[in-house]
Amino acid sequence: MTRREFIKKMIIGAGLLFCGCEHLLGDDHGRERGRERGGALPIRSDNPSIRLHHNRCRNCGRCRGFCRNTMGVFGQAVPAGEDTCTYCGQCTLFCTRAITERYHYREVNQAISAAGKIVIATTAPAIRVALGEMYRLSPGTNVEGKIVGALKHIGVDHVLDATFAADLTVMEEASELLERLENNSAKNPLPMFTSCCPAWIRFVKLFYPSFLPNLSTVKSPLLMQGTLVKTYFAQKTGIDPAKIVCVALTPCTAKKAEILLPGKNAAGVMHGKAEMRDVDFVLTCRELAYLLNLNNVNFLQMQDAPYSSLMGTGSGAGMIFGNTGGVMEASLRTAYRLLNNKNPPAKFFNLTPIRGLNSVRSASVDLGVRTLNVAVAHGTGGLRPFLESIQSGVLKYDFIEVMACSGGCIGGGGQPVTLMGPTRLKQLRKNALYQRDIGSEIRLSYDNPQIKAIYNDFLSEPLSNKAKELLHIYR
Ligand code: SF4
Repeated sequence: MTRREFIKKMIIGAGLLFCGCEHLLGDDHGRERGRERGGALPIRSDNPSIRLHHNRCRNCGRCRGFCRNTMGVFGQAVPAGEDTCTYCGQCTLFCTRAITERYHYREVNQAISAAGKIVIATTAPAIRVALGEMYRLSPGTNVEGKIVGALKHIGVDHVLDATFAADLTVMEEASELLERLENNSAKNPLPMFTSCCPAWIRFVKLFYPSFLPNLSTVKSPLLMQGTLVKTYFAQKTGIDPAKIVCVALTPCTAKKAEILLPGKNAAGVMHGKAEMRDVDFVLTCRELAYLLNLNNVNFLQMQDAPYSSLMGTGSGAGMIFGNTGGVMEASLRTAYRLLNNKNPPAKFFNLTPIRGLNSVRSASVDLGVRTLNVAVAHGTGGLRPFLESIQSGVLKYDFIEVMACSGGCIGGGGQPVTLMGPTRLKQLRKNALYQRDIGSEIRLSYDNPQIKAIYNDFLSEPLSNKAKELLHIYR
């Protein structure tokens, strides 16, 4: 080996070592240092969210240890025949070499160029403050205008914002919470858990099925958006729903599995075409960059473009859905409004006890006519003692938000991987979403004019029969 080749190998080796150590040195992932015998995680070939590329795997076993020790999933007993995976995709952040999401960006690219198809994409809140990292912008840089511009540039017909559906989720979930507080029963028990994270729902199904009745019946925002794209949006714009290809752009790998579940075809059922799915494809934030690269998009040069005027506007409350604690804060703002028929006081716009990155936070929140005990938890690794204290009655709450990924969706398994430590990374993304809320003219889901319009024109009122049929799921 020449001196030049030796120096080159040393530089590459040091780079790889640095990249490989990043998550081990970071505070969250750093707790997991052990390798486990037995090689890679046994990711099944029919896993709808993630893939193990055997040819790239070194069988080091670190992913197995990470899933067991940091995520609290691998190695736990599950019902017979069930896969243990919750589909959260955190292992794709930990092992970028051999484990990836199951790719769908090429299919979406084909749909964009197919004749007769109308491609409608919806962006989740958390990707706008992370996609820039794929283009070397600082974490937390808000690139939502460029995302819309780039999608239009490659031929996507309509670009919508999931903050709209997040506002709708708030309206339905806050109404459901108030109903459960009135009629607490075995069928509709308290505490009520949020239901927008599919990996959390799967965690409950696999490990804590006794909590299934406690899950809110409200669909996740991206599923709601898909249902409404093929019903309300299609009706308003005169598009044949059969021609629509509905694409969700998310920080999440679990949603790839969620869209395939039974019952996620409410629009199809309404149109008498049960085979029609509400959402056709889910792309992660990373896949969005691959899709743009496939089309030679110079992302940083893209001009900002606006979202669609229909289902394209959300409130600040909808924006903070991407942060752990955001769904809770957004729902409490609207619950106060529904209970008191007036806007909540200033503290509801910065509920500090439930903000931050501690794994469990709780608060007693005065809603005027009553006080609610609420809690927020994130990351499945630390959930078990918390859930068991609730099961045994040691901890008592009315309403609990749970997100499977550490930090909530801003730390989702489909987000870009960077060399920055995970806590700093999440703080920057989180702060960017809170800043976006502060800068919003409308900070209450209730006040979003597009939400008022959809209830006036289509759904009638929260928890109406039509809303239940399209926006709720009964497990
Ligand atoms: Fe998906 Fe968000 Fe849940 Fe992570 S926290 S699994 S990104 S919904």
